[in-house]
Amino acid sequence: MIRITLPDRSVKEYPEGVTGLEIAKNISEKLAKEVYAVSVNGQVYDLTFPIEKDAEIKLYTWDDAEGRHAFWHSSAHLMAEALESLYPGIKLCIGPSTDNGFYYDIDPCGHNISEKDFPEIERKMIELARQKNRFIRKEVPKEEAIDHYRKEGNEYKVELINEFEDETITFYLHGNFSDLCRGPHLPDTSYIKAVRLLNIAGAYWRGDENRKQLTRIYGISFPKQKLLDRHMEMLEEAARRDHRRLGKELELFTFSRKVGSGLPMWLPKGARLRERLENFLKKVQDDYGYDPVLSPHIGQKELYITSGHYEKYGESSFRPINTPAEGEEFMLKPMNCPHHCEIYKSSPRSYKDLPVRYAEFGTVYRYEQSGELHGLTRVRGFTQDDAHIFCRPDQLKEEFIKVIDIVFIIFNALEFSDFEIHISLRDKEEKENYIGTDENWEKAENAILEATREKGLDAKIVYGEAAFYGPKLDFMVNDALGRKWQLGTIQVDYNLPERFDLEYTGADNEKHRPVMIHRAPFGSMERFVAVMIEHTAGRFPLWLAPEQAVIITVSEKFEFYAKKVLKFLNNYDIRALVDNRNEKVGRKIRDNEMKRIPYLLVIGEKEAESGKISVRRQGEGDKGSMELEDFAAMVTNEVKKQTTSTNKPIVN
Ligand SMILES: [Zn+2]
Ligand SMILES: [Zn+2]
Repeated sequence: MIRITLPDRSVKEYPEGVTGLEIAKNISEKLAKEVYAVSVNGQVYDLTFPIEKDAEIKLYTWDDAEGRHAFWHSSAHLMAEALESLYPGIKLCIGPSTDNGFYYDIDPCGHNISEKDFPEIERKMIELARQKNRFIRKEVPKEEAIDHYRKEGNEYKVELINEFEDETITFYLHGNFSDLCRGPHLPDTSYIKAVRLLNIAGAYWRGDENRKQLTRIYGISFPKQKLLDRHMEMLEEAARRDHRRLGKELELFTFSRKVGSGLPMWLPKGARLRERLENFLKKVQDDYGYDPVLSPHIGQKELYITSGHYEKYGESSFRPINTPAEGEEFMLKPMNCPHHCEIYKSSPRSYKDLPVRYAEFGTVYRYEQSGELHGLTRVRGFTQDDAHIFCRPDQLKEEFIKVIDIVFIIFNALEFSDFEIHISLRDKEEKENYIGTDENWEKAENAILEATREKGLDAKIVYGEAAFYGPKLDFMVNDALGRKWQLGTIQVDYNLPERFDLEYTGADNEKHRPVMIHRAPFGSMERFVAVMIEHTAGRFPLWLAPEQAVIITVSEKFEFYAKKVLKFLNNYDIRALVDNRNEKVGRKIRDNEMKRIPYLLVIGEKEAESGKISVRRQGEGDKGSMELEDFAAMVTNEVKKQTTSTNKPIVN
């Protein structure tokens, strides 16, 4: 017998060779139907994998990424099987699972496969799934595997296997289908009940544009039809909220082929929206003792060699701008940190001067392949809400608490209430992989853990995920559609202070290294605005909305009164406009609701005579007639509530 530690931490004895599926069945029949993969001492395996020794296990279901990966990976095999049967002679390349489904890259070898064929492929997949073929893992010597694919004429798989270091290669078989694969997989194909192919695209073999172009088919699958239906509704809603579409409709930003792809330009409404975000953060940062700095968009190559960014981003990432006359070489800056380090160095620092907090909305440039570009979320030039804190090791905890406070003020103002916190620490078994002393790492990690504890936050701690230069804390926001976005990273850095030889004089009159913290609550203004658009479906919080109110006249003859109302609102800094078009009032209300303007103020005979306005709130309907003063006070209060936080700034 062996001792198995179950997910609820209880320990139970099982015969040697017991499988995850058998353990799940032993716990409950219901669980056995819902579980897709098992982890044995931290490693994920097939449910049918025999466990031979004492172990700690976890059972993964649809609710776990590991469970969904096993499900979708199995679905990729099923799709490949369907494709092979419908299009004989095609060559399979690679077919992984992703966080949102799966895809398979194939060489169609003359077959013409298009989206029109999707229903037929889906039908075939379900037909094959119903055969309830077991996924069987098989180990094969490398030479035999190569031989197998040589005979088949699949040069792609041969190339892959040749690069494997292991002498045994694993295959997964089901029915008459087999594929080179590491697994894990579902016990059998019948788990897959609903399938939808999503799109088809070209993809270069191994991502190399000099090599053969393949056909990539994306799909998603589910254990229940209902889950697929719900997912498709979510995708439709996501398409409706797509920031590229709404950004155009709401006149926020634009792209021009002539300017270059991946280089967004902000239209007046978008620029003002961004300005409001920036001013809001600047105000908060002022309260928290940050100082503004400004640095140029380019820097000498030497600067980035010192910082290590040259090595990381390389020449292909941000091409040099040559100035041959002086023999200098300049580069577009991929990061603001090196400049801020040099600003820190511009004068001697004492322990009493610390912390120094430099903030800059700094625009940076990074080369992205054109295929990777996407609206505002993947661009080639973007502005970070960057800041660098230079502090003493004993100040780390307090600085972390302050940055967390700032992040919460922002989340409050922008109505993000659903988020997770991830803390990335080093792998204590492999200390040699990290720069900085053991003592400093301990200090920094404890500072982060204590700061989150003091703030009463529940954090997920991941060991071994820290960057080589320091631990970090990330905020993962769940948006209105349940999608996760990483916003707000707080990163400790021991590397740059070393590389730039940063110092301060301690109380002991000796030279010491400051610790550096990088932080950017929004990440980048571009990406953040994209997330905001998709999260709110363009219905920004009142304080941020491009227009807060629109004055709608019942007929053109009330223009004079409309202008009077507008002037009144402008005096209260309420952003409003007049819709005095010669249209029916119902049409005007609808049009302005489409523009997602929060307040619609209708004026006609009655309002003009009484000096009032008739108020409608987007999404809430009629609010009745109001005095202008009352409306202005209501809007001012709402804005104030959104932009002030209960967090009291602590400045030193
Ligand atoms: Zn596989
Ligand atoms: Zn930085």
